[in-house]
Amino acid sequence: MKESIYNKHDIEAAKIINDFLPDKLFDAHMHITHRGPLYEVGTSFDDYYDNIKLFAKDREVRCNGIVHPDDELKDPTEFAKAHDFLVEELNKHPQNVGEVLVFPSDTIDDIEARLLHPNIKGLKCYCFYAECENKYDATIGEYLPESAWEVANQRKMVITLHMVKNECLAHPDNLNYIIKMAKKYPDAVLILAHAARAFAAWTVFGTVDKLVDLENVWFDFSAICETPAMLYIIKKVGVSRCMWGTDYPVAAYLGKPISLGNTFTWLNAGNFSGGFPLRHVITEGFMAMRELSILADFGKNQLEDIFYNNASRLFDVK
Ligand SMILES: [Zn+2]
Repeated sequence: MKESIYNKHDIEAAKIINDFLPDKLFDAHMHITHRGPLYEVGTSFDDYYDNIKLFAKDREVRCNGIVHPDDELKDPTEFAKAHDFLVEELNKHPQNVGEVLVFPSDTIDDIEARLLHPNIKGLKCYCFYAECENKYDATIGEYLPESAWEVANQRKMVITLHMVKNECLAHPDNLNYIIKMAKKYPDAVLILAHAARAFAAWTVFGTVDKLVDLENVWFDFSAICETPAMLYIIKKVGVSRCMWGTDYPVAAYLGKPISLGNTFTWLNAGNFSGGFPLRHVITEGFMAMRELSILADFGKNQLEDIFYNNASRLFDVK
């Protein structure tokens, strides 16, 4: 692992970011795993705190630590280790909360058996675990079992959803599923990760509108490094259901995702012939949040809500 992942361009931006950030931060979407390092950074809460210090300085930072989903966790031994690690980490950092993974075949009992710490406040599904051929084209029900909704609804927990399919929220299967299930399970909160995974910003235009009245559908802005999708969501939904996040350790990736054509791509060192002043995703994400706050005319209260209060309110609910 490198001493520090940051380059001079991150360090320059960090001064601007430090001036902009409110006093407290709650990262609504970051990952921990016993399987680190990933993207050249460690994957415990302590590793995260080391890496965010450049921007956060001495601020209070709380986290929603989501077990990092990867293919290896299909192995029950690795799966158990990942969840044991989450519990150990929450014991070490009781200011934080966490989310456990759910598999498509899980029963209610399977999921409840994983809720081994009072700070486990959410469930995380991922398309890797769908049984279908093309996992990035899976329908949500193929990787998010209804049992997860039942548990979340019963216990007032959150479900973090990283949607797939190229059109994301603009795909009727995704949008209709979200509307149907959010209405059926009103006490479960569905967090649409990465601004409803709007790396291609157009996918939320005209579609988020249909979610405005669903108070249990929230958004995290983790790993989103451009403003149009976030600004549109804020304009339609307001600030109260939106939260900042880093998607650490993805935050430690050099470059950023951008809308391109009718889809998106990741800009990285491979796209340039050397010397281009690339920054890391964490830096780009903070800078995009700053741009958002300027474009949306955020006052102090809105800034504090999106960076801390909303997540604190959501995850502290018993
Ligand atoms: Zn993530």
